[in-house]
Amino acid sequence: MKIPAHPLSFCSSLYTDYILMTTLKSHILHLLIALILLPATAMQASSPSEDFTTAFADSTLRVDLIMSGGGGIEAAISLQGLKKWDGWAGRRHFLNKLPAPGNGTIEVIDPLSADTLYRNSFSTLFQEWLSTDEATDTQRAFENTLLLPLPQREAEIRVTLYDARHSQMASGAFRYNPGDPLLPTVRAPHYEPTYIHRSGNPDQAIDILFIPEGYTAAEADKFMEDARRISSEILSYEPYRTYRDRFNISAVMIPSAESGVSLPHKGVWRDSAFGAHFYTFGIKKYLSSPNMRRLHDAIDALPYEHIVLLANTDEYGGAGIYNNYLMTAAGNELSLPVSVHEFGHSFGALADEYFYPGKETDQYPLDVEPWEANITTNHGASPKWEGPQYEGGGYRVKGIFRPSETCRMRDNDYPEFCPVCSSAIEKIILFYTAPPAE
Ligand SMILES: [Zn+2]
Repeated sequence: MKIPAHPLSFCSSLYTDYILMTTLKSHILHLLIALILLPATAMQASSPSEDFTTAFADSTLRVDLIMSGGGGIEAAISLQGLKKWDGWAGRRHFLNKLPAPGNGTIEVIDPLSADTLYRNSFSTLFQEWLSTDEATDTQRAFENTLLLPLPQREAEIRVTLYDARHSQMASGAFRYNPGDPLLPTVRAPHYEPTYIHRSGNPDQAIDILFIPEGYTAAEADKFMEDARRISSEILSYEPYRTYRDRFNISAVMIPSAESGVSLPHKGVWRDSAFGAHFYTFGIKKYLSSPNMRRLHDAIDALPYEHIVLLANTDEYGGAGIYNNYLMTAAGNELSLPVSVHEFGHSFGALADEYFYPGKETDQYPLDVEPWEANITTNHGASPKWEGPQYEGGGYRVKGIFRPSETCRMRDNDYPEFCPVCSSAIEKIILFYTAPPAE
């Protein structure tokens, strides 16, 4: 379909964060996503479901995609490449269910039966970009990398993106052939991970991987210290604390040639490992990297499901994109609360609950119920949560409601998630780690 001149944006939250924090603090930031977490009861022993072992090997298929559009052309999804390696760190149950709806889905489909063998959801920077002014007259392409369990047999891989009205806006279908001689196999990881928090085997735990950006070889200890500090903070919040025994957190030291990350608005460019920079889409605090393939190349064959890129800078900023990545500045005075907030986006699939008069956006159409668990327009079939609704949220003063006066998803100073956010995060933790009833 055509991309409207001013498409509604869906990304989950960058803009929101940006707007709030800019208003609240002089230093700022915003970001979104991701990460890590916490625990509690002992990990339940789970055996792979029969469905999993019938359809998939204990191996990973890496799918590199190019998503392009803008400038009035239809958005397109192209396959850039595939790779595989031994070991699958993701779930082996609830194979055809989604942890949350997301702005996009990837599915593995049996071409004979047309059954969906596995599906997962995610959001993308590309979809955020489509809502910028630049996208009205410019065509651009973005890299996206997603992981799948390796199908045993020939399969179709289908990727679909949805707009803010939940309508399909782009799709791509690719054939996977297990006998393809051009399918590369990664034999071993390029770097050795260090476990910060270990609860179980990768096939049982939720695996979070911290990756350094802008740390030189001489700053390896600083990176590990930053990764420990931020992962401890995340695990100190409920519901992560209760479920801390369901998470594995590791870090892998990948040196950058130069210390720090690029600050285009200050004319500063650094030779960092993944080319991350602030000023994404002209927003000072928005940290991102255009080099998703390079990033994933560095961590091939490591057991990871969720990634946190730690930027070695004391600038304020970051970003979090659901089931895609979280990037955060490690050295700012607000790095801890921001990291937890962004993890709420990237792992917890939560929306921003903040809003600023005069800085509203139309990211969420008021006549459509958002898919995120913690904001509502009351256009769903039934109330989204029990209890009160507070008007204001999702970057709108009116017409969007949040579940609590304040929350970690609204305010950098508030020390916990509201009950609705906490419950939504718990649901996702259980989705990944609770084996289905046999
Ligand atoms: Zn909340």
